[in-house]
Amino acid sequence: MPPSPPDAAPDTTSDLEEVLTEVSDRSRHLADEGEVEDQPEELPSAESTRFALALAELDGTEHVTGDADVGFAIQSVVKVFGLTAALRLVGEDLFDRVGREPSGDSFNSLIQLEHEKGVPRNPFINAGALAVCDVLLDAADDPFDAVAGLLGDLVGTELTVNETALDSEREGSAANRAMGYLMSSFGNLHHPVDDVVELYVRLCSLTVTTRTLARAARFLANEGVDPRTGTPVLSEPLARRVNALMLTCGTYDAAGQFAYDLGFPCKSGVAGAVMGDVPGRFGVCAWSPPLDEKGNSRAGRAALHLLSERLDLSLL
Ligand code: GLU
Repeated sequence: MPPSPPDAAPDTTSDLEEVLTEVSDRSRHLADEGEVEDQPEELPSAESTRFALALAELDGTEHVTGDADVGFAIQSVVKVFGLTAALRLVGEDLFDRVGREPSGDSFNSLIQLEHEKGVPRNPFINAGALAVCDVLLDAADDPFDAVAGLLGDLVGTELTVNETALDSEREGSAANRAMGYLMSSFGNLHHPVDDVVELYVRLCSLTVTTRTLARAARFLANEGVDPRTGTPVLSEPLARRVNALMLTCGTYDAAGQFAYDLGFPCKSGVAGAVMGDVPGRFGVCAWSPPLDEKGNSRAGRAALHLLSERLDLSLL
């Protein structure tokens, strides 16, 4: 049986709407000092003034501000759903192929991978996501659908790939290929590098919105059960572990600061989304394309920090 949402939520709907509006007003201007990731200019994630904040409660109530229904490529946030899909298929055997430690290095670094004999530090750096894709190629009948279908079920609509983003990802995947070859040379990739990278970049190019990412994160706030359908997605212990990895490794080389400031699990991506969940309460997502020096959305991070303070969300 899915756990029921907490019966007496501390915040009324109008309180939450007010807090979201206040937080958005106070944080969106911080985007001004960040840089958007180099990408095709027709993508909304190349527009520096986009901003959205969305919160999805376990009972289905959604609160949004700004551009919450504008689509963008999910990018690295998909790593949460790739990890989830792989854990569903092979359980914790996955961790024979990828570690569970923060990397303290950039998300596409090759150096650590060489020192550590082709075993990536965690599933949220690129090398780790490639190991996860390799496992999906082994274990899933349809590896793309194992992730895209799961995410579509969580969101409640079928997801599409943004072809412009996909072309750009393919063109920009030299470092990912290099990682793939290094991992292959250590025996930690079983499929051709091209196949693994293609699966990874297609998944990064799925179109989502701020609202749908907040919705998709809710199973992690609900002991592994999708509150929309009541379907178990992960066992409760595995959902906790995904949350633990998001908290410690989900926001590039700034995970310590995120844990300190926000105190709940998050995953960010280069299109400017930061998706998180507050166990027992809601899924949340902030989106603003300009990034800080660590690769996290500047205004998105500030918005979630403020939200955490205003609603007392830190779990720590
Ligand atoms: N497309 C990006 C890459 O793998 C995703 C990176 C990210 O969002 O961190 O290079």
